[in-house]
Amino acid sequence: MAERLLVRALKGGKNTKIVTLNGKKITKMPSTLEKLPGLKTLDLQNNRIPKVCPEISTLTQLTSLNLGNNLLEEVPEEMKYLTSLKKLHLFGNRIHRFASGACDGLQNLILLSLNNNQLTWIPPEVSRLKSLTYLSINHNWLASIPRELCFLKNLSELQLNYNQLICIPEEIKFLKNLQKLFLVRNNIEVLPEGFCDLINLRSLDIAGNVIQIFPSGFQNLKLREFYCEENPLLMKQPVHAVKQEGVWRLQEITSRFIMNQLAEKNLFLMQAVEWYPQVRNIISQGRKCAICGKSFLAVWLECVEFVPPSKNWKISRNLQLVPLRILICSYKCFNQRGPNIFGIAQVESRRKSLSSLVGKPAAGTLGTFCRPQGSRSHEDSDLQFGRDLETPRPAIAYQD
Ligand SMILES: [Zn+2]
Repeated sequence: MAERLLVRALKGGKNTKIVTLNGKKITKMPSTLEKLPGLKTLDLQNNRIPKVCPEISTLTQLTSLNLGNNLLEEVPEEMKYLTSLKKLHLFGNRIHRFASGACDGLQNLILLSLNNNQLTWIPPEVSRLKSLTYLSINHNWLASIPRELCFLKNLSELQLNYNQLICIPEEIKFLKNLQKLFLVRNNIEVLPEGFCDLINLRSLDIAGNVIQIFPSGFQNLKLREFYCEENPLLMKQPVHAVKQEGVWRLQEITSRFIMNQLAEKNLFLMQAVEWYPQVRNIISQGRKCAICGKSFLAVWLECVEFVPPSKNWKISRNLQLVPLRILICSYKCFNQRGPNIFGIAQVESRRKSLSSLVGKPAAGTLGTFCRPQGSRSHEDSDLQFGRDLETPRPAIAYQD
């Protein structure tokens, strides 16, 4: 059957534009394809092909190649010769790597589907796919995505559902044309600050991750659809507690002084810092306090502000307030915050753990551990600020 179709195609010679051999139990790609230099579309879906034939490299007019549901183990190197290719379907194979050079010639590729494979990583060379607009790698084993992926400036839709991603690179902000982002069922804890620069993002689905809090500015995204079910989002359940002002390291005090002097254009320091690249490197990691606007280096209070989601967003049913991450430089600023900002603390109990939002610390009370006012006794639980450390660690969230 497959042979008969192929013979008919071969009779057409270079006038044959389409060859469809779906579901023909083919185990070897027909090498006679090289006699069809005018071929535009090649469908070989649902076969048993483990390797592409070298002759495929002659198909320089090919715009669409479907090798979905076969037995390929890599994105083949021969792809680099298919310089006219616009659509490449490689879903449902056993692909665990990109052959070297595979991305080199695919300058015109618009759509790449790699769903249901075994990829654990994507090579940085993916950045060579300059025209890529739709990329979908659902149901793979990706633990990370390379920052180079964020340089695909035409990318409009990115699907990474059902992988093992734990973070998203800060460079995501460079995907200025991204409209749809799907990250369902990964292990993502934090969305980077740069996320808020995705000005064209309209659909975001992050259901089934471990996100507690969103970057500040998230509420300004012009989303139309936003889904976030099954994330341990912080909930507004204030607990009153107290906390003593900590003692800063000398490096923190000095860095704050230098950063704030530089912000005020202190000429002497501006010139001096030129001579100390190490200092420049350290202070480049400084961040700004949401209350006083001054810079700090490594010691801060992580707080949460609850804002209602935009009325234009189509959202998850049970989402009433979006928790946003707010960084504050000191308890002095903490005590000047507005009524919607809360400190985040970690309550450790013998029975269960939950994160709490600290509403009103009383001044002057000592102790690293602070008791929440309420029914819980000291024996049952300790309220410990988990987020005012030099290395912030995630609080354990409490869900109803
Ligand atoms: Zn401050």
